[in-house]
Amino acid sequence: MLAAVLGVYAAGAAFLLFWDLRLQLTHHAIEDIETVEGLLYFDPAGNLGFHDDYHNHPESKQIQERFLEVLAPDGRVLFRNDRLGTLALGGPIVDQEGRGGYSQRTERLTDGTRVILVSRRHTMAGRPILIRLAYSLEPIWLQLNQLLLAFLAALPAALAGAGFAGYSLARRALQPLTLMTQRAEQITADRLDERLPVENPDDELGHLGRVFNSTLDRLESAFNQMRRFTADASHELRTPLTAIRSVGEVSLQRDASREDYRETIGSMLEEANRLTRLVENLLTVSRADAGQYHLQRRPIAILDLTRESAALLDVLIDEKSQHLRLDGDERATVLGDRLILRQAIINVLHNAIKFSPAHGDISVSTSQNGGNVRIIIADSGPGIAEEDRGKVFQRFYRVDRSRSSESGGAGLGLSIAQWAVQAHGGRITLETAGGGGCAFQIEIPGGPEA
Ligand code: ADP
Repeated sequence: MLAAVLGVYAAGAAFLLFWDLRLQLTHHAIEDIETVEGLLYFDPAGNLGFHDDYHNHPESKQIQERFLEVLAPDGRVLFRNDRLGTLALGGPIVDQEGRGGYSQRTERLTDGTRVILVSRRHTMAGRPILIRLAYSLEPIWLQLNQLLLAFLAALPAALAGAGFAGYSLARRALQPLTLMTQRAEQITADRLDERLPVENPDDELGHLGRVFNSTLDRLESAFNQMRRFTADASHELRTPLTAIRSVGEVSLQRDASREDYRETIGSMLEEANRLTRLVENLLTVSRADAGQYHLQRRPIAILDLTRESAALLDVLIDEKSQHLRLDGDERATVLGDRLILRQAIINVLHNAIKFSPAHGDISVSTSQNGGNVRIIIADSGPGIAEEDRGKVFQRFYRVDRSRSSESGGAGLGLSIAQWAVQAHGGRITLETAGGGGCAFQIEIPGGPEA
């Protein structure tokens, strides 16, 4: 490309130079013809002569290659200067040559010399003559040849220099990219903490590196979360499985009565139920993570939904002889997925039942406030300490592990409730109830009236 550009540049420059020199030469020739006109004369014998002082003209002497020829209108040669000798200048008279001003053309002498020829008709002592004056173009061609030769001689060096400079520049510019590629090749699932080197954070490569690094940040935290989830889930699954096995083993080791076996099978079933619930919860969480839930949004009357949720937990409330108060705004509605919202309410309400003492009070109230629908589930349990409040919504988090495991929870209930509420554009917060228990508040943007 560079060679082509330089070639075009040199050709253009040579053409302009040639054109300019040729123009100058033509101009000189025209000026010279005017001088020559004044120096020609007819001697008494009728022969054309030329005053010598023209040759003495200091300026004209500098021009070596001047050719002069004077013709009669019939083409007879009246005069030729010494430089021309016996050579003809331009041959027979061309039609209109030298009429009404100066005519010019390029010619070749019989010895091959290229000339620029200017002609003019003139009348001397009443006799018409044609003056032809020419300058050799050879010096210009020589100059051009030298210029092109110099260009050709310098071209390889220029190309080699430019190629080398371009190559080293590109190498230096791409050096960070090579480093980044090498480092990127080393990053595997086990080494997600590695980052790409960023030399200059403000240039394009630096920007690419920063974007790639922040992608790695997100990937790393997603990977860690996944690993934690798998570890926690396995741990939670192990507990009921161990319980089932040990209960079974112990009962097999001794000769038990029919009653004992019934009891053993009963507790094994209880563990199996716990396992089923856990697996269902794990499934919900992993589906939620994978974004596989598509909300089937319909208008839902919230008070109605809380009644339905409480009815499903009635047995547990009766078991502990607890008192559930349920009231609120019948018209409060949201546009949401009934099953998912019900799961959220059940999870929170189930906790309230679990953690409230026997004969304790639980209250559920709903209201519509501005555009939002609010559900408050308050219990008369021990409440949750200030420092644990932010963490109870995390997966597998249990405030008091022993107490919570006894009641069968794996620490997933509130995180599922939070996901469900957030999927509806709402939020779930934890306050302290009047009696020191927990008051969970769910707020969801309201929908049209059911
Ligand atoms: P779990 O299924 O184990 O109950 P959750 O995610 O529902 O898990 O709750 C997390 C932890 O928060 C529970 O283990 C418990 O210690 C605490 N918690 C939740 N609700 C209440 C409540 N109403 N009263 C007291 N502690 C609660």
